[in-house]
Amino acid sequence: MHKLDIVQVGDPVLRQVARELSKEEILSPEIQNLIQDMKTIMRAAPGVGLAAPQIGRPIQLAVIEDMDHTHLTAEQLLERERYKVPFHVIINPRIYLEEGETAEFMEGCLSVPSFVGVVPRAKSVRVVCLNERAEQVVIEARGWHARILQHEIDHLNATLYIDRAFLPTIMTEESYVKLWKGKNIKEILDNLGSIP
Ligand code: ZN
Repeated sequence: MHKLDIVQVGDPVLRQVARELSKEEILSPEIQNLIQDMKTIMRAAPGVGLAAPQIGRPIQLAVIEDMDHTHLTAEQLLERERYKVPFHVIINPRIYLEEGETAEFMEGCLSVPSFVGVVPRAKSVRVVCLNERAEQVVIEARGWHARILQHEIDHLNATLYIDRAFLPTIMTEESYVKLWKGKNIKEILDNLGSIP
């Protein structure tokens, strides 16, 4: 499996609510191998998360890893609250968003290639799920990790970031790099006519 196996927007599998996995299924060689494949595909893409529907499997499983920050400045890491997140697997997740302040940042998706857009997300979340050993875990996350969790769990519930983005801010990566990279999000919202 490789990057080309990532399902693109327009495929109905991305609009299907994924089914839960039983503990027996999670521990089966098939799912264990799938997790390894997803890790490889996510790293090759490269991406910081990959949900099973994105490789055509409508099951409640996603992998996350956010370790490479070499393309970001210290200031960008700070404003995004982006800290290193080691590889982990979420299965049958329930997500609880902390009420209150949201954060707006540019977001993209491997299933919506070449585009990005501004998406408001809860700054802090709690996720109750199973891990790859079928053990229950509780993940408390803030900042970018919270954003990744919301994005991936949305995939399991048939939702894409483009459903939550401020529509006028959807743009090609090329425009983003040419016009907006390094600018603050408020400036993007002001200039594209989308006031949240
Ligand atoms: Zn995505």
